[in-house]
Formats: sequence, structure tokens, C-alpha cells
Amino acid sequence: MKNLLRGLVLKVLYPLLMFAGAFLKDRKDKFQLFIIDLNNRLVRSGTSGQGIRKILLLLPHCLQISECDVRITHNIYNCKRCGRCEIKDLIQIADDHNLSLFVATGGNLARRIVDDVRPEAIIAVACERDLSSGIVDTYPMPIIGIPNERPCGPCLNTRVNLDRVKEAIQFFGK
Ligand code: SF4
Repeated sequence: MKNLLRGLVLKVLYPLLMFAGAFLKDRKDKFQLFIIDLNNRLVRSGTSGQGIRKILLLLPHCLQISECDVRITHNIYNCKRCGRCEIKDLIQIADDHNLSLFVATGGNLARRIVDDVRPEAIIAVACERDLSSGIVDTYPMPIIGIPNERPCGPCLNTRVNLDRVKEAIQFFGK
């Protein structure tokens, strides 16, 4: 029942809000965040997280600091783990919990990664726009979305609350 409700939110309410957002441009981010929060709540209340074995942790490329020239888009494990950005911590978290870990540079690549990995659940970090559209695209897959933090503005040296990532992993029972 909760999953059906989630379907209505993602497939009916989301397009309506995005239509409204085309006219109320300054509210579009808030509409997207509303959809992400509602999705997360419905996933948590409608999914038994226990027993999910294959979790994909999907990250945006902008978490890597712009001064770093290591290529992590095809293989995040190219990271030298210098600690100048949170990629190092996220690799450690993924290793500790045996997660599949990938960086996506856009919606198309994210979809391809999901098709290749075939996870049972996803924890995704991204901006509100990419997260909300990704959650809609991957329905009915259980996915918890965590918006990134953007102290330097969009797409540059972004950050993520690592506690929220760990908490989402715990919810899925890892
Ligand atoms: S932790 Fe260091 S090597 Fe890894 S992506 Fe960040 S800056 Fe680059």
C-alpha cells in the first residue's frame, strides 16, 4: 500500500509540481526537496530494510574537490584517499558495509550504473533536481535520497552529511 502511495507521489504529484515549478521557478527546489523527503519517509515506513543485501551508493562527481585531478568517474577507487574531500570517507563507509560504490556524472550514467549493478536498494547523493528525477526514474526500487550541501554554489566542491549516509545504510540493515 505504501509503495502504491509512493508511486502516486512520484508519477502523479511530482510531474504536477514540476509543471507548477515551471511558473514558480524560485520554488522549484523546494518542490523537489518536498518530493525527496516524502519519498524517503514512504520508503522508511513501507520497506523492511532488514535483509537487503545489495545496496548501491551513488555519488555525484562534484563531491570531489576541483583541485584534485585524479579520475574517479570510471573507477572511484582511483582516489588516493588524501582526505581533502569526503570521497575518502565515503569509500571507507562503502568498504565497511560492503556496498557497491559509483560516481555518476549525470542521469544517463546513473541509469546505466543501476542497470549494471542491479541493486536491491539505492542510497543516492545529489542535488535536489537530479535526486528527485532519479528517484522517479528508478521507482519502484527502494531509494533513499540525500541532498548534497553546496557551500561553494552548485556543482563545485559539494559536501554530504556522512551521518545521514550511515543512517540510511543502517536502515537497510547493513
Ligand atoms: S580524497 Fe583526495 S584523492 Fe580522493 S578524490 Fe578527494 S581530493 Fe582526490
